[in-house]
Parts: sequence; C-alpha cells; structure tokens
Amino acid sequence: MLHALRGKLMVGGVLLGSAIALTAFGLAPHGNEPTPDSAIASVSTVTASEALSNSAADLEPSALPLVADTQTRRGETVRSLLQRLDVEDAAAETYLREHAEVRRLLNDEPGARVKAHINAQGELTGLRFTWLDARKAQEASQLALSLQADGQWQETTSQVALTPHTRLVSGTIQSSLFAATDAQNIPDSIAVSVAEIFANDIDFRRDLRKNDRFTIAYEEWGVEGEMMRTGRVLAAEFVNKGRALQAIWFEAKGDYFDGKGQSSKRQFLSSPMKFSRVTSGFAMRFHPIQKTWKRHLGVDYGAPTGTPVRSIGSGRVVFAGQQRGYGNVVEIQHDGQNRTLYAHLSRIFVRKGQSVEREQDIGAVGSTGWATGPHLHFELRVNGVHQDPLLLAKRSKALTLSKSELAQFKPIAKDMLAALSAGGSTQTASAR
Ligand SMILES: [Zn+2]
Repeated sequence: MLHALRGKLMVGGVLLGSAIALTAFGLAPHGNEPTPDSAIASVSTVTASEALSNSAADLEPSALPLVADTQTRRGETVRSLLQRLDVEDAAAETYLREHAEVRRLLNDEPGARVKAHINAQGELTGLRFTWLDARKAQEASQLALSLQADGQWQETTSQVALTPHTRLVSGTIQSSLFAATDAQNIPDSIAVSVAEIFANDIDFRRDLRKNDRFTIAYEEWGVEGEMMRTGRVLAAEFVNKGRALQAIWFEAKGDYFDGKGQSSKRQFLSSPMKFSRVTSGFAMRFHPIQKTWKRHLGVDYGAPTGTPVRSIGSGRVVFAGQQRGYGNVVEIQHDGQNRTLYAHLSRIFVRKGQSVEREQDIGAVGSTGWATGPHLHFELRVNGVHQDPLLLAKRSKALTLSKSELAQFKPIAKDMLAALSAGGSTQTASAR
C-alpha cells in the first residue's frame, strides 16, 4: 500500500508538466457532475507525433505526422468537429456522418475525448473517442476508427480501465482561492474540497492573504494519460498568513488528519453554507457582518437565492416556519446547550420534531422577512445566550486517532508530506 502510494506520487511528480498541458485542452468533465458550458471553452490542441506516447501512435504508426486532441461539445456535428481538428476530408466526413455510433456520440456525449490522426494533406486517417459511462466508475468506453491501406475504415470498440494517478500542484493566492486554482487548471471540486478540509482553521471567504500558498496532491482517473475523472484530494498543505496547515487522507478512517493525527473535522461545521464559487464571489461583495455579531446577534452570509443551507451539526428541528422579521426560519437544538437558527430562507426542507444530520441541507437562502437582499442570517445560542457562531466549530472537539491507528497513519503522512514539499519546491522553481 505504501509502496503503491509512493510509486503513484512519483509518477505524479514526473507528470506534473504534462498534466498541465493535458488539462489545457479545456475544463474536463469531472465525474458525474454537470458539465456546463465550460466544455465549450475548450480548445483543440495539435501536437507533434514525436511527443506522443506509444499507445497514442498505434492507430497508424508510420503515416501520421499529426495528432490532434479535442473534446466533443454540445451541439456538435461531424463538420464542426472536423473543422476544429483542421481536417479537410470529404470522404471521411461522409463516412462519419453515416456512422450511427459516431452520430450518437456527437449528440449524447459532450465532453468525450477525441484523438485524431491526420496526414500531411489534412486527411483523417484515424479517429478515437473515449467517454465515460455514469454506471461504470472504473472504466471508459472507446471507439477507434482507423483508415486501412485499402481505403476501408476499420472500427474497434472496447472498454478500457481507468487508472489513477496523482497530480501534484501548487499555487499562490493573488486575489482568491478560485483565481489561484483556475490558474493551475485545478477543478472546482478539488478547490472546494480543500476549502472544506481547512474550513475550521481558515475562513476562505475572509482569511486569505496575498501570497498565501498551497500544494495539493489529488487523484485523477484517466486512460493513457488522458484525464477523464477527478478523484479526491489525497493531501494538501495550505500556508495562511505564514501558518502552515496540513491534511492527509487516511483511507482506514475515511477522513483527513494532520501530521500529528488530529482530524480536520469537528463536531460542528464552521459554516452553514458550503464554500463554492458562487458563495465565495458573493461574500466578497456582500461582506459578512462578523465583526459586529454582538450587536447583530448573528452572522450574515451573502449568497444567491436558492443556495443550500446546511445544519452545522446533528440535532433536532425545534422550529420550522415563519418568524416576524426573520421570515422563514429553521431552529435546531444540537445538544443540551447549543441551538442554531437559520433565517430569511426561501425554502425549508425540514419539519419540526425531525432529526437532522451534520451537513444535512435544511433549507435554501432567500430574502424573506426584513432582508435587503438574499442572504442567510445565522445565530447560535448557548444555554439561551447569543454567542459568536464562528467560535463553535473551533471550540468543538476534534477527532483524534488511537495509538494503533496513529502507528498506521504516521508513515503515510510522512510520505505524503515529503511529496507535498517536493511538489511545492518544484513548482516554485519552474515558475521563476
Ligand atoms: Zn443578520
């Protein structure tokens, strides 16, 4: 297990440069998440065949001066695809137009990877589609079409196993977390995970400083070096205001721990709203009134109407309905002492008396009651007395590993932290 991990990381380190080049194709679809218009922004890239791996060249090894990669887009046609690949080939166009599976792929599989082999005359000699099936997490489907010497097209369909590799990336904060992760082609799902992992120690809406740094090792699942699906964060380091925080994934516990074996998770979440591109952007313009919570008796989070609101801890719903000024309100009793309140909701998903889990969505942001715009008003009462809700998560207990778990975790953490520091310095060196 450790050796496998180390092997993967070294591959990740070596592939760092190519991984960036790879993702430059465009924002790839990430798993089963909706793949919105970002796919439309993707550009096709043309690479010299010498740079290709053996597997990519095996369609037509000798006669291929060029290989072009792209991804299918919404509303794709044979014509638009060939144009983007810079192919001028009426015969191939006709062949593809009449190919039922190609038509289906262009209609139904936006985001499919396309690799084209093109001869010096701009004619197509091979075309391969690779796409994910939502029901099969570990494999991708491939359709390969290759032009034979006799002018006939040969086709092969196959299932190929997705293999994981670790991508190691680092970046520096200039304006926001998403600006920094975008600059490194890091998917949003990974940026959000990092913000959640460190949420108890860093408020990513307010605490970031210019020149804060991060290094992230995360899993990508791909076929022959082409990234198809983003996996999870394996380890991350974040240096915020000069303080370095680390988190390492520990499979045995299904959670993240720092180098000393302390969980990054607490009994209570530090925020009733998941950090996201939308909430982060809004919070910048619509600043939470955290410094004045005593007067205000709560914290306001600006976010668009409909943004999910989650319970910060497990408990029981003691109020779900309307209150003057507060509009639609949910109140949750977490234990003998702590009760939280969520106000101005546009929708309520829970009923009085119901039990809720930590992180369960209980409603959606709105502007009901006396609200000047859509936002969440969030309060904490401890034994009936208002307290700063931002302190609750910090005060609540962190999960720690037992002695035997710690013995198992320590070597993993050591390897991961070494990889992170190596990745961090590589990136810094190459950036200068
Ligand atoms: Zn408020």
